[in-house]
This record gives sequence, C-alpha cells and structure tokens, in this order.
Amino acid sequence: MSKQHLVAVIGAGPAGLYGARKLAEAGHRVVLLNRDIKPGGLAEYGIFPDKEKMKTGLRKQFKRILADPKVFYLGHVSVGQDKALSLRDLQAIGLSAIVVTAGAQGTKKLGLNGEDSIGVYHAKDVVYHFNTLPPFSLQQYEIGRRVAIIGMGNVMVDVANWLLNHRKIDQVVVVARRGPIEKAYDDGEFDVIEPYLDNADMRREIERISPQLTAVGQNVEEIIQKFVKQGEPAEGRRLQFRYLCSPIRVIANDQGRVAALEVEENLMVLQDGKTVAKGTGKLSAIEVDCVIYAIGDQVDPSLGLPFSRGAFVTNPEKLSGDPNPAAYQPYDPETKQVLGGIYVAGWSRNASVGLVGVAKQDAERGMKVVNQYLASKEGFTAGEMEAKIEAIIDMLQKKGASVVTKEDVELLEGAEQEEARKRHTWDFKFPSDEKLLEVIDARKAAR
Ligand SMILES: Cc1cc2nc3c(=O)[nH]c(=O)nc-3n(C[C@H](O)[C@H](O)[C@H](O)COP(=O)(O)OP(=O)(O)OC[C@H]3O[C@@H](n4cnc5c(N)ncnc54)[C@H](O)[C@@H]3O)c2cc1C
Repeated sequence: MSKQHLVAVIGAGPAGLYGARKLAEAGHRVVLLNRDIKPGGLAEYGIFPDKEKMKTGLRKQFKRILADPKVFYLGHVSVGQDKALSLRDLQAIGLSAIVVTAGAQGTKKLGLNGEDSIGVYHAKDVVYHFNTLPPFSLQQYEIGRRVAIIGMGNVMVDVANWLLNHRKIDQVVVVARRGPIEKAYDDGEFDVIEPYLDNADMRREIERISPQLTAVGQNVEEIIQKFVKQGEPAEGRRLQFRYLCSPIRVIANDQGRVAALEVEENLMVLQDGKTVAKGTGKLSAIEVDCVIYAIGDQVDPSLGLPFSRGAFVTNPEKLSGDPNPAAYQPYDPETKQVLGGIYVAGWSRNASVGLVGVAKQDAERGMKVVNQYLASKEGFTAGEMEAKIEAIIDMLQKKGASVVTKEDVELLEGAEQEEARKRHTWDFKFPSDEKLLEVIDARKAAR
C-alpha cells in the first residue's frame, strides 16, 4: 500500500493556504489549523474592506485550495503554549512535518512613557476592528476627533483612510522619523486619502525641514512639487505630516486619556548612503486624542518557537540549495540545533514584509524545502493518517474547543452572502465568534 505524508500547517492566511496547496500538489495530506473561524488571515481581515475585486479574487483561490480533499481544515483552533493545542501536542501525535504560517500576531511597542493611556492603539488591532475580526470587531476604540499615526507605510494609509473616510474625524497627523522622500507607502494607495491633504500645512512643513533635506542632498523644490498638491482639504478634514519627529512620550489628561504626543525633532544624516534620523533634543507636543502605532508587527512568542527581537530564530547557516533551506528552519540558539521537522514561512518568517504575493512566494519556496525533507522520510498509510487526524480532533474536543470544518465555513459564507444581499452591500461579516458558531449550527440544523 502506498504511503503519504501528513503535514500540520498552523495558520490559514495566504502563506498557509498557498503552502498547503504546494504540499497537496506533491501528494501529501495537510491539516490546516487556524485561529480564526474563517480562513484568509490578513487577506480577509487586513486588506481594506472596500477592495472588493482583490478580496473576492483571493477568496475564490482560497476556496479552491480548501476544496482539495487532501486539505483538512480545522478553524477556531489556536496553537501555542496555553492554547487548545501546543506544538508539543502535535509533535507527540507524530506528524511528518509541522509548518508555522501564523503571521505576525505580536505587537511592537515603542516603550514610551504614557503608552498605557486610554487611546493608544496598535494599527493591527484597529485594522482587525474595521475588518470585523472577532473579538476586535466588538471592542471599543477611543478615537476622538484628532489622531496621530506613527509610521509612514501602507498600513498608515489604510488606518487614515478608515479614520477620514469612514469615521470622518477632523484631523490625522502622520508622525515620521525621517522626511517625505523616505515614505514607505505606495502613491497608488495614497490616492484615497490625498483629498484630505492640508497642502498649505504640507508646504510649511517641508519649508520647516528644508535645511535638513538640503544637508543630505535632497532637492527641496522637487519635494515641494511632488508632495504639495492644489486645493483645500476635502470637507474640512485634514491630513497633516510631521516629518523628522520621533515620538518621546504620550501625555495623558487627568482621566488617563491621550491629550498629546510629545515628539523630539530630528536631523537627518547620511550613513552608508542612507538617510538616518538623529535626535536634536528639541521637544514639542502635538495635541491629539488618540495615538496609533503603524510601525509593523512582530511574531507571537507564545507559539512556542525560539524567539528573539520580534522574530522566530531561524538557522543562521548557509546551506546549499535554492532557497537556502536553513532560512525556513526554526533554530534553538542555546542548543545550536534546528527544531527537526518544523518549518516557518510567510509573515511568521518575515514579519510585516510585503503583500499577499510575497507571502505566497515565500510559502511556495518554503514548501520546496519541506517537500525535500519529506522525500527522505517514511510516510503513513491512509489508516494511520486518519488516526492521527482523529487524535488531533479528540485532543481539541477534550479541551472543549468548538472546531469549525471547511463544510461549516461554506455554510457560514452562504449565510453572510445572503445577509449582504439583503443589505445591498457586496460583503457582510457577523461580528462575534459566538454569532458565527450560532449561524453555523442553525444552518446545519436546517439541512
Ligand atoms: C493593514 C494591512 C493591509 C494590507 N493590504 C494589502 C493589500 O491591499 N494587498 C496585498 O496584497 N497585501 C496586503 N497586505 C499584506 C497581506 O495581508 C500579507 O502579505 C499576508 O496576509 C501575510 O500572509 P501570512 O499568511 O503570512 O499571515 P496572515 O495573513 O496574518 O495569516 C496568519 C493566519 O494564521 C492564523 N493564526 C495566527 N496565530 C495562530 C495560532 N497561534 N494558531 C493557529 N493559527 C494562527 C490567523 O488566524 C491567520 O489566518 C496588508 C496587510 C495589512 C496588515
């Protein structure tokens, strides 16, 4: 009887799903274990809600991957220390390999004084909130009328888009350590918030920092031409930038709510051909009601892999092969050993780096490494694999977990689409896990 491999893939975002497809194409069976009830990760709960074409296109691809009988989906299952299932539990069941594609679920802090004030948030939590991911969907965010966003990438643009176009607040101030040229957002993404740009303020801001721009060889006139547009901010809602500023402290009022963000002005210097910010010691305060960190994320150490400086540690060796297999192997720096049979890919390997296409490519390259590893191993019979999947389900049931299958996800999606049609919108999501599970149960009972 021919033998196959059984691989656990932890996380059904783009990396996990495209990775599962590669493994299934190589003839292996996959158990996808996903924290969220629905698959998709940030493609479902990160990409801006009105990007209908992109989101529906990705959902279709994910649906096709899940339709493969070799892919077994278990949603609403968190893996990690103190979770329903740990990496150790999975190792004890004895699978052929374990692939961690759980994204970057940890949050980075700046360690500012006053960071615990009411009204200080991480962009990822806010993004999950406006993309209706339980439990973030029902949490209260004390936004107020004026918000400082720290960071200048595409996530900043998405958060500003939600604040200005949907929450319709009065003012967004983007705080950036360096200057306009060092922006990390794409111009195409910026279009949605450009109507709110306070052009008079932008001109003043570029003029204020012009000596520093000139000092590093940047052309002030060209920068003004590129960044200062025509016209007044739309509907009186203003988008402003504070360049060459590093956050120093969150100032709270006597109710513990954000009242201002204190920043230190920076100089820019050239180091190895790159611009670097250097503090001047000169402080000023930006009066705001809320501060949102859009500075990228880190992986979640509670998953149980060796962790250092926001990332899972991978094998530092340069091994032969393309890709370098070591780059996908978690590594214990104390024992100087790789964690045999465990792999990482996507944002779990490279936190907050790149679009869906990058996570897909990384997972596909990673699975090439996993497939090579599996080629040297003895597989399992169909019966042995069934028993191992049963053992996972048993373990989850003993811990009282309400596990969701891909058939359940389909029932849920059907109910959400019906609801969307009733509301004349292209998309609708139920906001809590309790409701999602209730809808699945109701649909099952009605069959
Ligand atoms: C705000 C924002 C907007 C974006 N917009 C775009 C865009 O417009 N276009 C684009 O191409 N890309 C966009 N991206 C990037 C894109 O979303 C990522 O490149 C991609 O989703 C990363 O895939 P991933 O699978 O590595 O991680 P994720 O998408 O984060 O998926 C991780 C999966 O792991 C699961 N998980 C987490 N922890 C556990 C655990 N302990 N146990 C089990 N499962 C777990 C989660 O439920 C999730 O399903 C955006 C990203 C952000 C943050």
